[in-house]
Amino acid sequence: MLYLSADCIIPIEGEPCFNSVLVVEDDGTIEGIYTKSELTDPLYEIIHYNGILCPGFVNTHCHLELSWAKGLFSEGEGLDYFIWQLGKFRKSISEVYNLKAIEKAATEMIQSGTVATADIANGKHTLDFKRRSSHYFHTFVEVFSSDPANAEAVFEKSVQLKAEFKNQSLAASIVPHATYSLSDKLFRLIANAGEGELLTIHHQENEDENLFYKDGNGPIAARRKAFNPNLPAYSGTGKRPMESIAAYFDPDQKLLLVHNTVSQQVDIDFVQGYFKQPYWCLCPNANLFIEKKLPDIDLFRKKNCKITIGTDSLASNHQLSILEEIKTIQQHFPLIPLTELLKWSTLNGAEFLSQEQKLGSFVKGKRPGVVLIENADINTLLLKTETTSRLIIPAHT
Ligand SMILES: [Zn+2]
Repeated sequence: MLYLSADCIIPIEGEPCFNSVLVVEDDGTIEGIYTKSELTDPLYEIIHYNGILCPGFVNTHCHLELSWAKGLFSEGEGLDYFIWQLGKFRKSISEVYNLKAIEKAATEMIQSGTVATADIANGKHTLDFKRRSSHYFHTFVEVFSSDPANAEAVFEKSVQLKAEFKNQSLAASIVPHATYSLSDKLFRLIANAGEGELLTIHHQENEDENLFYKDGNGPIAARRKAFNPNLPAYSGTGKRPMESIAAYFDPDQKLLLVHNTVSQQVDIDFVQGYFKQPYWCLCPNANLFIEKKLPDIDLFRKKNCKITIGTDSLASNHQLSILEEIKTIQQHFPLIPLTELLKWSTLNGAEFLSQEQKLGSFVKGKRPGVVLIENADINTLLLKTETTSRLIIPAHT
């Protein structure tokens, strides 16, 4: 049995505990949180940490296969230029370099406190690392193609890729890339094969997506034309993006919308009304990196949205650390309590991945991992620039 005390223990389910001891079995199973006066037996060897203890983080949006791009892309140029940079650099990367970059990025992500990750994949580059790792991964096999003539071939490729992950006993599902990057036919193929599987989609990363659905114009329309010159012109739906594509999905299916940088009340109201289990993933550092803009986080809170946190990839972030995402949110929205930010970063993500029986909070019987947050202001529970996090006890899923 391990007896861990800290300046503050944030159990996520329940109030922060001061002057308390987290009792953990040797295999990482949570026994409980006790006050020091309840543990007076001198045989208890209490290890004290200066800082905050919380459960392991859940990263609900990552692209580990883009780890090779760390430090290569220029910032603040917008999504269109970002996609152009991705295409330009991608071809020159060797597979050996790619695999090393994935291993390094994933290892650092885990060391910084992440115990479960929803990771987007377009290929099988991450398969070897995931197969060897005890970390919980759900792989989202991403598909896109605006040309209906390609739909079956693209879908068949994704079915095979998903099977490669499944064959290694790794959780995986096929998901659409974004609201605007699939043909009607491809959307239907995904929907028909889904059967309640976990879904995610990039959503409203910038205004281009709203423009495209409004009347078929803007940068997305231009990109679509450049990539598929033979496609007939698209005139939009006159509706908001999710309203335009919601009919492809089963409203009971869990759906994670990622980015939501320009989502407004009308978008949130529609999604919250249509889907029974919508989750809203925020990737603030990537939003600042690409678009120099953050979502209206207060609006999501006002609307009681289930918020989760993602890091996106090293193409659009300097690290894959959930703590760094929390810091950024706290800098821009200082009134959001740390306890709430940590809930988004732990329990909400675990719930989305259906791992909340094991992860996400310090509840007896769970094995959520233990994270130590150091150099925070304990009195105000505000993080500082120099605040760091590290996993001190691994999770077990
Ligand atoms: Zn992404």
